[in-house]
Amino acid sequence: MGKVYLTGAGPGDIELLTIKALRVVQEADVIIYDRLANPDILKEAKDGCEFIYVGKEDGRHTLPQDQINEVIYNSALKHDVVVRLKGGDPLVFGRGGEEGKYLYERGIEFEFIPGITSAVSVPAYAGIPVTHRGVAVSFRVVTGHETPNKETSQVDWESLGSDETIVFLMGLHNLKNIAKNLIRVGREASTPCAVISRGTTKEQKTVVGTLEDIYMKVKEEKLPTPALIVVGKVVRLRNELAWFGEDSNP
Ligand code: SAH
Repeated sequence: MGKVYLTGAGPGDIELLTIKALRVVQEADVIIYDRLANPDILKEAKDGCEFIYVGKEDGRHTLPQDQINEVIYNSALKHDVVVRLKGGDPLVFGRGGEEGKYLYERGIEFEFIPGITSAVSVPAYAGIPVTHRGVAVSFRVVTGHETPNKETSQVDWESLGSDETIVFLMGLHNLKNIAKNLIRVGREASTPCAVISRGTTKEQKTVVGTLEDIYMKVKEEKLPTPALIVVGKVVRLRNELAWFGEDSNP
């Protein structure tokens, strides 16, 4: 029986892959990968390495999680080094915990290899620090995938009214509701807000607005996924701190 490496691929920029992740990719007999993992990483694999795509998009699974678990398990029965490559960090909305549990229950050895999460690095590439002295002393990463409906939502909307940075992942399709709800729980309508699409890649695009107008602005721009939402005063720092790609002055 082989060993499974539940590995973070980083947010997109291939250079944000960790040295440890690169090592297991180079040693892998099979790599099971997501849509969010930069496919250029696969070029680092050795000859004869098998690639299995189990892509997911914004929580819509092309392969259901239980089948992904099985693919990983069956690979571990056949191969020595199995790399499960996931966008960002495997344990930040990455279901790496579920995959680890599944392997634990079947006696398969595994390891987590953390990755650079999009939640922090994508704002960084847009010139937005998630914390900043005197501006934000805390930040929260929240799923934007849930409908903010009181009966069913597990997100504690009432607690999001305070003045901290919030990063919503998987929230592009829900942007209108998210902005509306933040205003409902006490955020000023003028609170700065940014939506960053395809962060850390050549196609990075950032739209800045306020809770009041961000939805319309993003709609006009037709931003593609993956995209995340940053809410809070730190967004204003982008005026001085934007440095990457779309913003850089040659
Ligand atoms: N485990 C991942 C997150 C998985 S949830 C991580 O740690 O980054 C998928 C969500 O992450 C997307 O819906 C989007 O909100 C965000 N995301 C991932 N990569 C991104 C990127 N390059 N640019 C913008 N958002 C990204």
